[in-house]
Amino acid sequence: MTKPDRAYRRRSIDGHELSPESLVMSYGYDPHLSEGAIKPPIFQTSTFAFKSAEHGEMYFRKAAGKAEAGDVEDPGLAYTRINNPDLEVLEDRLTLYDGSEEALAFSSGMGAITTSLLAFASAGSTVLHSSPIYGATEVFIRNVLPRFGIHTAEFSSDASEADILAAAKAAAEHGPISVIYTETPANPTNVLVDLGACARVADAVAGDVRPVVMTDNTMMGPIGQAPLGHGADICLYSLTKYVGGHSDLIAGAALGTSEHMAKVRALRTALGTTPDPHTCWLLMRSLETVRLRMEKSFENARACAAFLRDHPKVERVRFLDFLEPGPQRDLYERQCDGPGSTFSFDVTGGKEAAFRMLNTLKLIKLAVSLGGTESLMCHPGSTTHSGVPKDLQARLGFTPGLIRFSVGIEHPDDLIVDLEQALRVV
Ligand code: PLP
Repeated sequence: MTKPDRAYRRRSIDGHELSPESLVMSYGYDPHLSEGAIKPPIFQTSTFAFKSAEHGEMYFRKAAGKAEAGDVEDPGLAYTRINNPDLEVLEDRLTLYDGSEEALAFSSGMGAITTSLLAFASAGSTVLHSSPIYGATEVFIRNVLPRFGIHTAEFSSDASEADILAAAKAAAEHGPISVIYTETPANPTNVLVDLGACARVADAVAGDVRPVVMTDNTMMGPIGQAPLGHGADICLYSLTKYVGGHSDLIAGAALGTSEHMAKVRALRTALGTTPDPHTCWLLMRSLETVRLRMEKSFENARACAAFLRDHPKVERVRFLDFLEPGPQRDLYERQCDGPGSTFSFDVTGGKEAAFRMLNTLKLIKLAVSLGGTESLMCHPGSTTHSGVPKDLQARLGFTPGLIRFSVGIEHPDDLIVDLEQALRVV
């Protein structure tokens, strides 16, 4: 979709390209269409009035791909499951940090993931995915897709290009690969998937159709990693996490080319996985501070990870800055723009010691989820990943004492004091 050249879509001044930090306050919104309101109002409406019966007829004709000579380029709005001003402004702004042609917002991260997978994975094809991936995504791929005749196969997150290619060739025997699905860094082990390698494998196994490389960038957010520049065709988000950032909404996004997004959009309309106007408005507020919040949380994570690494009751801190020289370190330097602020560590003494530490925290909250302004900790083995069989947990590098830490934007000294007193009981 070519964006009309309007003042509210201006991206440069005197040849100087404006950065996302500046554009995200105003891009895609014309105040003069809303009484001069500097912020987009919440268009809390389910439907929009047509100017005439002919206008309504034209809208649906165009939506069905049957435009006629004389039809206007933009027939306006119709129904909030399909479009709404808050949704459209948000989607324009979501393209900015990742540099995508188009973005689509969803009612949850899982809405974005499932709708995108179903848009490209057809019966008889194979979805090849990295492992581990977020629990609900894994359940959807492993248990739901096969009910629709879609074969699934996996490769280890830290697999080399040769191993991913071998997995793809073996999997393709069950049906052509429609999607290579990845999550990097993997949650909660922080193992990185090589997106460039996935793109080259997609080229190598392409038949009539090339597999679509999708990656869930929730863990790094748009500030920690830009997957579209590294080989992903579609970048997926749980906006519930770092982009929403305040632990007060549930939403998701899919970003990519207009061609790919057209297929996802059509299915979103059919499935009804569109977000509501108020959530879109909250996300516009959040996007304005996403860089400030994320950079602060990365800085805090560096301070907390360094404290934990030096603590005698902590065995291993899986923080990306601490990667030893080797393929994962090279990949980190090539693919990531920061360490993220969610990482895991092992306390000595296993599950019992981990639980004792978690129960002693005073400032850091004990909850699942990540990417909020407040710091959170959880025990993935008994909560977020409790559905993963114990032998698979062990194979993926879980230990009984593994704790996941999502570092927020509090004062780092306060976080460290809380860690110190909680580790004293271990
Ligand atoms: N992807 C990752 C990596 C997640 O951690 C989560 C949620 O925890 C999701 C996707 C799903 O997002 P949502 O809860 O917004 O549906």
